[in-house]
Amino acid sequence: MLNKKISSGIVGAGIAGIATAIRLANRGHQVTVFESNAYPGGKLSEILQDGFRFDAGPSLFTMPVLVEDLFTLCGEDASEHFSYKKLSVNCEYFYEDGTRIHGYADPKAFAEELALKTSVSEHSIIEGLNKSALLYSLLSGLFMEKSLHKATTFFNKDAFRAYRNLHKMGFFSSMHQANTARFKDEKVVQLFNRFATYNGSNPYQAPATLQIIPHLEFNIGAFFPTEGMYSITQSLYELAKRQGVTFHFNSKVDHILIEDELAAGLVIDQKKEYFDHIVSNMDMVNTYKKLLPIKYTPKKLLNQEKSSSALIFYWGIKKEFPELDLHNIFFSKDYKQEFDHMFSKGDIYEDPTVYINITAKEKPSDAPAGCENWFVMINVPNNQGQDWDEFIKQARRNILEKLSRLLQQPIESLIITENILEPRSIEAKTSSALGALYGNSSNNKYAAFLRHANFSSRIKNLYFCGGSVHPGGGIPLSILSAKIVADVMKD
Ligand code: FAD
Repeated sequence: MLNKKISSGIVGAGIAGIATAIRLANRGHQVTVFESNAYPGGKLSEILQDGFRFDAGPSLFTMPVLVEDLFTLCGEDASEHFSYKKLSVNCEYFYEDGTRIHGYADPKAFAEELALKTSVSEHSIIEGLNKSALLYSLLSGLFMEKSLHKATTFFNKDAFRAYRNLHKMGFFSSMHQANTARFKDEKVVQLFNRFATYNGSNPYQAPATLQIIPHLEFNIGAFFPTEGMYSITQSLYELAKRQGVTFHFNSKVDHILIEDELAAGLVIDQKKEYFDHIVSNMDMVNTYKKLLPIKYTPKKLLNQEKSSSALIFYWGIKKEFPELDLHNIFFSKDYKQEFDHMFSKGDIYEDPTVYINITAKEKPSDAPAGCENWFVMINVPNNQGQDWDEFIKQARRNILEKLSRLLQQPIESLIITENILEPRSIEAKTSSALGALYGNSSNNKYAAFLRHANFSSRIKNLYFCGGSVHPGGGIPLSILSAKIVADVMKD
């Protein structure tokens, strides 16, 4: 008699759901993915509008090796399906007083640039980046690549090395305190504080441990997929199909079927589908609130502070701006105020830090000739029922005023097409609780330990992947969550 294949049902075709599907299918499982949208990728999707193409969500690509690993696992050559290039300038930084800093990818050139334009020494920058690298070497094995909810994670040589260096890990001061102590110069502190926003946190509260983040960008590198960010989704979706994964789109999962404390299947459109394993790539909070019986709700975990959200204007601009690059930041004058508004007052500061991503700089076909595709984003509070229509109107006015001032020309009249994404639509499109971009915030030193595990301790055969659970939000960590799910799943 033939052995029946183990079956796995996955809720959601976000990047983590796709990566999990690839790993399980490669292991021999019969994998079926149910996705409520008509397309794969969740937050990592794209918008096509009036001749412009915009990457809808993530714009910064780090750790491409994690994408390549999935091809390698399946015995394929990643470069035949997915290509990317390393950036030579990671970001252009603009300050209100007219200072402009080129964020060269090369650490030495970056240190020279900062020493030239601010009061810091080259040495302090190199030392800061070395500290980032040290944090990465101490923490990545422990926090990023393994389940934090298995005893074996804490009893091995990586873990013991980390314990010996606990005092170097920055648990006991905020990111802002650590950056101020090291750099002293306000502009440089602001530049390095900004890395807290990479997981939707507040640098004035988040532990200095988050200083690990600049290591990814400046020591390992920032990259651009040559066909745009959405090609990460597309290439992995195609790989999953080649591995035999079945995708059902426009298929919203209504419930996870529980029988004898065991996840037995999924209910879609009142139809029951049975599986040996269930993996939820849906936001963890909404998995509990919408798909599972209330008695399983882990109240403490669900009540953790969520990360910030975002307000994005996708603007087709009928002009080219040679002074702009792929990634551009226009800093607010008062960063502390900006974060107080975001995390304490729940509104938007009148002078927000504005990020512009222009993929047409690297991929000219993303905009018609003579035009640019601007993805203009500010960090905003998550959705607590604020008057978003009014917030968006005010923010649009303030952003246009700021950009027109710093770029020394009126911007509004250059916009020929517009689309908007905001906390309410982020939640509606991806089921992210409160429209948060990265699940929980990391605004306290225990945050890493308060993310949900990649498996359920109460419901057998139920697993969790994605940016709302361990190890965290962002593309790299979401992809790593898939690896952890595959590692902790027994068969
Ligand atoms: P998601 O992408 O949210 O996917 C979840 C999927 O599950 C969705 O497709 C959803 O439709 C589906 N789903 C939910 N519920 C159901 C259900 N009941 N039935 C069926 N399907 C369901 N990261 C970076 O690395 N770099 C960046 O520059 C960056 N910038 C960002 C900017 C923005 C504006 C946003 C929104 C995010 C950004 N991120 C960035 C974060 C990154 O996009 C996410 O962490 C990552 O994409 C999360 O992937 P995921 O698979 O966990 O979830």
